[in-house]
Amino acid sequence: MSVTELICITCPIGCHLEVEKVINDDNETVSYIVRGNTCKRGEKYGIEEMTAPTRMVTSTVKVDGAHLSRIPVKTSKPIPKESIFECMKVINDVKIHAPVTCGDVIIENFLGLDINIIASRSMKKRTKVTETVNV
Ligand code: SF4
Repeated sequence: MSVTELICITCPIGCHLEVEKVINDDNETVSYIVRGNTCKRGEKYGIEEMTAPTRMVTSTVKVDGAHLSRIPVKTSKPIPKESIFECMKVINDVKIHAPVTCGDVIIENFLGLDINIIASRSMKKRTKVTETVNV
């Protein structure tokens, strides 16, 4: 019997989970039993965390021609945990130009995973401020 302790990160309550791996006589994992969850989402999270963990990634990319130098971005859906490092490398190499609208696709089909990197806010193009001085 193998039990893994986890904290469910699906909602702010943060239930303490115990996920038991059930192994058959041939030493194969046959199922998982989740304890400590208050709702069904916790059971789903516990099993996914043991089999195919994923995370939403949020970061920023460089933007040219706006009043700020970086714009916040996020993945359009959770990505496999093992792809996070590669995702951050791709995000760090990108530079975009203002204007940007919230939801714009910044990187399409990232790593062939059918996941996009999208802007999570809008940013207008910077306008030049001209000052008039009356003499
Ligand atoms: S098990 Fe349910 S209630 Fe508990 S942290 Fe997860 S989502 Fe929230």
